[in-house]
Amino acid sequence: MNIDLDTGRLIVFLSGFFIFLTVEQLFSVRAGTLPLYRRATLHAGIAIVNTVCVRLLVYVPLLMWIVYVEQMGWGVARWLGLVGWQEFILSVIVLDAFDYFWHRANHRIPFLWRFHKAHHSDNDLDVFTALRFHPGELLISSLAKAIWIVIWGPSAFAWFLFEISVSICAQFHHSNIDMPESIEQQLSKIIVTPRFHALHHLVEREYGDRNYSTIFSVWDRFFGTKAIHLSATELQGREIGLPEGRDVVLSASELLLEPIKRRNLLLPKPEES
Ligand SMILES: [Zn+2]
Repeated sequence: MNIDLDTGRLIVFLSGFFIFLTVEQLFSVRAGTLPLYRRATLHAGIAIVNTVCVRLLVYVPLLMWIVYVEQMGWGVARWLGLVGWQEFILSVIVLDAFDYFWHRANHRIPFLWRFHKAHHSDNDLDVFTALRFHPGELLISSLAKAIWIVIWGPSAFAWFLFEISVSICAQFHHSNIDMPESIEQQLSKIIVTPRFHALHHLVEREYGDRNYSTIFSVWDRFFGTKAIHLSATELQGREIGLPEGRDVVLSASELLLEPIKRRNLLLPKPEES
């Protein structure tokens, strides 16, 4: 069962990646600072390191933890007696809310920010950025995930559904694409769109420290962290990335050293809603 789900996740991940890569080559909205082959080789290296780390250290223990929590009958979802599609859909919504708070913590807690700034150190924003995470961030976030699992108690299927949804949504909202204003305005009220998330990657902190949502954009609205809407024209020409070290072209090894680098250590200012 889990092997099938895992294969399904891989197929969705690879299909999504190549679909968004193709679409953004045809309809890109920002000129990149690096040629495609440089971005591809750099981020393929990071993806390989991350996949090996997660597979070796996290994947099996997390699955065993889901099964153990299920056997013990722990978690709010089980206490509520949720089953079938009710449980799958509610689990994705609730786990996405946890993800929102975790992402916000990554911007507010200095230790977590050291790792998360590796993701934000990209001066470009496209589907490759969705691969660009420091392995340390992925390993630390798996501990947070273990806590969510015991609090909520999702089924193994709901967990895979959530993970698949996160990866496809991350590929979509990091893509170098944009939508017509009317669609953007309506869609971004429900889910995180590429423009909604592009604001989160701006150098300007009044945008970069907002729009934390991953799948559903409603969390930023509910919790007062939504950035002011910008039109496609207003967004054009604004710098992506972090203020310091913008001239540095990162290699995979440089990215791994990001947590010990002094640049961009400044904590983003607190959100005011
Ligand atoms: Zn972030």
